[in-house]
Amino acid sequence: MAESDDDQKGSVKRRGLLAAAGVATVGATGWFGYRAWQSHKPVPPPTTRLQPDVDRGFYRRLGRTDLEVSAVSIGGGGVSNPKVIARAIDAGLNFIDTSICYGDSELVIAEMFRQRPELRQKLVLATKWDVAQDMPKSRILESLDKSLQRLGVDQIDIMQLHWLGGGHVRGDDGFNRLDNEALYAAMEEVKKAGKVRFFGATSHHENRGKILEHAVGKGAYDMLLVKMNALDFDGAGIPSLLSVARKADVGVVAMKSQPDGGRMPPGFEEKKWGVYQANLRWVLQHDVATVINSDIGEDPEMQDLAIEAAREPFTEADRALLEQYTTAVSPHYCRGCDSLCGGACPEGVSIAAVMQFAMYHEAYGWPARARQHYRNLPVAERFAERCLSCSQCSDACPHGLDPAGTVRWAAETLGDGGSSRA
Ligand code: SF4
Ligand code: SF4
Repeated sequence: MAESDDDQKGSVKRRGLLAAAGVATVGATGWFGYRAWQSHKPVPPPTTRLQPDVDRGFYRRLGRTDLEVSAVSIGGGGVSNPKVIARAIDAGLNFIDTSICYGDSELVIAEMFRQRPELRQKLVLATKWDVAQDMPKSRILESLDKSLQRLGVDQIDIMQLHWLGGGHVRGDDGFNRLDNEALYAAMEEVKKAGKVRFFGATSHHENRGKILEHAVGKGAYDMLLVKMNALDFDGAGIPSLLSVARKADVGVVAMKSQPDGGRMPPGFEEKKWGVYQANLRWVLQHDVATVINSDIGEDPEMQDLAIEAAREPFTEADRALLEQYTTAVSPHYCRGCDSLCGGACPEGVSIAAVMQFAMYHEAYGWPARARQHYRNLPVAERFAERCLSCSQCSDACPHGLDPAGTVRWAAETLGDGGSSRA
């Protein structure tokens, strides 16, 4: 198996402390994330057992797929223990989102199916293919077959076009990968062959509302996976996207509901569970089918908290708490608005992508995945010699972050002590 983030979770998972001064403008104390759950502990039985045909209010229709999915779902980004995933399904969560790019995630899910084969029928299985704008059909089909093999299944419920505008595919502007005709030929072929039931598209990009509206216009996508939280909504064009998706009966799944990977700003240590639940409820008051959360795939306690959150409506108390929280976290939360800091960079560094991978390392506790994505960036987009003495991107950030410091930190930490500078 490839290097796994699980290897290092004991030391970094949700430690909530910033190891690198460059990652944000706060010091190394005062930041708190969610509690680490040690994967060697026995997995407790589920405290809840929801069922789609009984607990109807908990399940929502995923657009024209007509699938009924649980309001909160299993993020596959950091899964390491098949029994924790099985516990979530036993509790009634029935949607998992993974990717061929998430390290061993597909293999962990396959192991869960091997241990508990009956769970395959209870689960909507969504994964992703990383199709470039010029990728030929043969390579697209290979990618699907690899995922089927890794997952140990004959059929994938939803195959999603991964991370539009993510900066990790050379020349990807968010729109042009949607215009690859070979992709649509491959989609038709695999659907006819029964290998895939539905298709989706995903984006974290600052312009993701418009990018995903373009996807809806293609008529080939049944669902969308989109970054959505209280700090990152209007500016990213999400209200318009939700309206366009609703009219086309395209289902919407939300991700990244916890700004800054769930790290808490100073003063919020005692309120972090309330913030976690309020963030989930904030998303769920919108026209989305489900919100995926990677903590659910990794931590039984977070499963319980997420289910509890989704069973209650968004309240005025939630609103008041989120007002305080968003004000406090705003100066530290990178919104991925690359056109601002990236637009100020004379060297073409993919600053928002580097910021995101730094967050994977520091907030999500995914060091291997952070390094993998970072090293997939073209060398010239990771770092420039000028970064050693430049701060133009930091000066351009309207939210007070220090992307120049993060770019330097990433070159050392994610690029093996500067090997990325070669
Ligand atoms: S560093 Fe600032 S300007 Fe750059 S993407 Fe993040 S929030 Fe936007
Ligand atoms: S510090 Fe580096 S990434 Fe930032 S503007 Fe300067 S050259 Fe670009």
